Order: sequence, then C-alpha cells, then structure tokens
Amino acid sequence: MDLIVQKFGGTSLSDESSRRHVLRHITREHEAGSRLVVVVSAMGRSGEPYATDSLLELVRANGDMLPPREKDLLLSCGELISATVLCSLLCSEGIPAVALTGGQAGIVTDGRFGSARISEIRTDRMQKHLADKQVVIVAGFQGATEGGETTTLGRGGSDTSATALGAALNADIVDIYTDVDGILTADPRWVSDARPLSAVSYEEICNMAQNGAKVIHPRAVEIAMKAGIPVRVRSTFSDGVGTLVTNAKSLRSQGIWYDKTVTGLAHVRGVTQLAVVNGNGPSDLQLRIFRAMATHGISVDFINVMPTGVHYTVSEADTDTAVDLLGQLDFEPVVRRGCAKVSVIGGGMNGEPGVMAVIVEALTNAGIPIFQSADSNATIWVLIAERNLAEALQALHSAFGLHLSPAQGT
Ligand code: ASP
Ligand code: MG
Repeated sequence: MDLIVQKFGGTSLSDESSRRHVLRHITREHEAGSRLVVVVSAMGRSGEPYATDSLLELVRANGDMLPPREKDLLLSCGELISATVLCSLLCSEGIPAVALTGGQAGIVTDGRFGSARISEIRTDRMQKHLADKQVVIVAGFQGATEGGETTTLGRGGSDTSATALGAALNADIVDIYTDVDGILTADPRWVSDARPLSAVSYEEICNMAQNGAKVIHPRAVEIAMKAGIPVRVRSTFSDGVGTLVTNAKSLRSQGIWYDKTVTGLAHVRGVTQLAVVNGNGPSDLQLRIFRAMATHGISVDFINVMPTGVHYTVSEADTDTAVDLLGQLDFEPVVRRGCAKVSVIGGGMNGEPGVMAVIVEALTNAGIPIFQSADSNATIWVLIAERNLAEALQALHSAFGLHLSPAQGT
C-alpha cells in the first residue's frame, strides 16, 4: 500500500473554497487506498488573521520583546489552527483523521528557537494511526526538543517538515501542493512565455530555490535528495500532476526527457556590488574585509578575490552597514546599488561548451552590461542592473529556447 505525504501551503488552506480543493486531493488518495500523512502550513498570507506574519504582528506592537521560546509557541499556533480545521473538515466527510503537533508526530529538534534543526523523527505514533486507517494531519514548521519545548524550523519550514516526514516514513512520494501548476522555466511575472516543467532534478530545483525561485524551500529539497524520495510540486486548484523532482538517473530511466542544457532561470533583486581595490593597501586586505563582514553577520555573495582587490555583493538591506565597516578599515569601496543576480540553471550544462557564449551574446545583443559572473556545475550567475532585469530574463529565456515545448527544444 502506498504511503503519500501531502503538504498544503497557506494559500491552499486560506478559505472554505480552497479547503474544498484540499479535501478533493485527500479524498482521491484516501479512496485509492493510500496511507496519508498531510502536512499543513498556517492559513493565508500576511494580513489574513491566522497567517504566520499576522501572528508576529500581534506582538510587534509591544516592541517585539517576546523571548524566542515564547515566540515559537506563538508561531506554532498558525499551523495548529490549520491542522485542526482540516481535521474537522475530514471528520465531517466521514474520513477518519487525527491532528498532531510536530512534537506529537515525533519530530525531535535541537533547541534553536526560530531556526531549529530536526535531529530525529520517531514515527511510532504516526505508524499506529496509519495502521488504524486514519489520515494523519501534522502541523508543519514545528517540532519539539527532547525536553518537550515547542520549536519552529525557520520561515518556510513546513516544506522541510513534509520531506523530513517523507524520508522518515520512506514515503513513495511527497506532494507539495501550492497555488502554481508546478515549477516554471522562469517567474511568469517577469517572463510572459514561462512554461511549466514536467520534471527537474533535485540539483536543478535546489539551484532554483537557492537563487530566488520561491517554489520550495531548499532545505526541504536537500532532505528529499539525501533520502531519494521523489517530490512533486503541483497545484491544489487543478488536477495537473505538476513537476516531478527526482534524481537525474531516475528521470532518464523513466524515459522522461531531461537532457536540455538549460532548464530554467531564477533571479534575486536588491543586490549591491562592492569593489575594493588593493592599491598599496595592506596585504591581508581580503582577510580583514571578510572577517569584518562575518563578525557583523553580513552574508556575502559573488565573491571574487584577485591580487588587485576584491569584488563581492551584499543585499540592499546590508549595504549601509557593509560600507561603514569598510570605511572603518580605511577602504573606499566602489558601491554599485540596484543590481540583480540572474541564474541560468541546468543539470546538463556541466562540460558543455558554449553556454556562457549564449548568455553573453543574448545580453550583449540586448545592450545589457554584465558587471560580474560566476559559475558552478549546474548554474551560471550574472550580475546586471536591476532596471535591465525584465529584458535580460526575456532575452535569456528565448536564447535557450525555454519557451518551446521539450520536443521542439534544442
Ligand atoms: N507558516 C510558516 C511560514 O510562513 C511556515 C510555512 O509556511 O512553510 O514561514
Ligand atoms: Mg512555503
């Protein structure tokens, strides 16, 4: 008998009519005889009453003085409301169901409130409910320490709950239900002919998620990848099967077309480039700069260290602090605000000649300067001005034929 983990995001649970769609997916798998663990997020988005951001807003008015332990207690409430409301809907339809907190489901974490890591999942209680033919609803984004303190896993953590439960239970599949039809070749708000992908590898989706595509939390993918559990990203509001995420070998063995050099684009806005030139300055310039950034918790990206100096990027929000720190070290950085990082992602690009040439040609033809670039085995990143972002994404999307269906592609 199959064991399926289904995860429903906030927009899938926000009102009665969306919860009817959730019910439809649960009923279908339940009637097909599958054992089901259903992970839920808090209902709705910021501004709606039980969303995680709305809960945070309740205490912000008191100067945000709530200690981390109590903040996690508050944050855990959103998912508990979703779990119990969904449980009542299933019971009203005659589907036997039980709602569990993360801790009750056996998710044991360390004690880092607000960003806890899962150390173990004890599945006995879930197994017992599954054996009793109950649908097990688990509040996402939370666990408990050995001592029973409620913890949360970091924002967006219910995806992590879902794949971690899938791995612990050795599930046949983890279905991540959301409000889009799967993973697209690019963000459709920026690229008009972005197209849903039928399959991607773990590596590709990890690169997309880490580079700004908001489709699934990268930590969740890493857990699924390590355990080799296939994931599908699909829509709550349609019957499409969405995008299958698994390893490249399994995609090939299933005969799923896969070998396109470039699979998709992702982007991050609000990036600042800092360049420090090493005139006759100290020889330990690099060390002093990166140590200062690290000590102040500033995350750096696009790092380029040369004998002549360093180039790197920070987020818009960290820019003023970073520039101040460099000033204190007597450096005068060249500061380029308003940049965007565009990622060209594809598991098939490794060792394939000509990918960078296509990128440079597409951007040059569009008159878009590249300020910096970097690459790994499945991604090439370019830094450009944010005002050129829409044009750059569209030009790259066309240059790699991402708007074409696989059969037409190169
Ligand atoms: N509700 C939590 C958040 O907004 C967890 C999640 O939705 O994944 O971060
Ligand atoms: Mg989410």
